[in-house]
Amino acid sequence: MTELIHMKDCYVKEWDAVIESINKDAQGTFVVLDRTAFYPESGGQLTDKGSITWDTQKANVVKVTKGGLIKHYIDGPEPPIGQTVRCVLDWDRRYKLMRMHTAQHIISAVALKRFGSTTVGNQIHTDHSRLDMRPSTLSQEDLIFLEHKSNEIVDSAIPIKIYEVDRETAEKNPEEYRCNFALLPKFIKKIRVVDIEGFDKAVCAGTHVANTKEVGHFKILKRENKGKETERIIYELV
Ligand SMILES: [Zn+2]
Repeated sequence: MTELIHMKDCYVKEWDAVIESINKDAQGTFVVLDRTAFYPESGGQLTDKGSITWDTQKANVVKVTKGGLIKHYIDGPEPPIGQTVRCVLDWDRRYKLMRMHTAQHIISAVALKRFGSTTVGNQIHTDHSRLDMRPSTLSQEDLIFLEHKSNEIVDSAIPIKIYEVDRETAEKNPEEYRCNFALLPKFIKKIRVVDIEGFDKAVCAGTHVANTKEVGHFKILKRENKGKETERIIYELV
């Protein structure tokens, strides 16, 4: 099992790891590392990118996926098994994704508190991100409220803590954690909580900033009607 550094610390940008295996599949050549902070594409958040270097060699990490193994697809020379490599994240990209993802938590929480809308999906990208919520029929004024209130939370500079809670404990209070435990696989015994202190808690495995002020401001670009009382909010960082 690859140790997932980013689950404990979202700010690790460089680390050493050992190549455990190298293989090919339909998507290309991939390596498995003993430890990684490369976030694999999942939960609506895009893959991390970066590089691995050893001796005088360098390969780019172009895509990371999960599903059994964490596969780091590489472009460049192939490292030998057992080799220690220096891993470096494309930090500009990752930090934008962390800001975007944290913005999503804030918008979702404001929408739930004010309009009773639950977020049912999201796509976290570096340029535009989006979230789908239901039931939702926002007026133009509501949209302005959503943007202003969310940016107010950003300005409040609230610390964000990430920690694990026993599933059994959390299940007694599903509203507090904004989690539908019925959808969570049974084998998950501990849940990872993203806690915007005193404002919102959510169960999430993604990467986030440590304080709401790091999000910077964001703008809601548009709202789309997706049918069945579902609306899509598209936003960008400014
Ligand atoms: Zn999240």
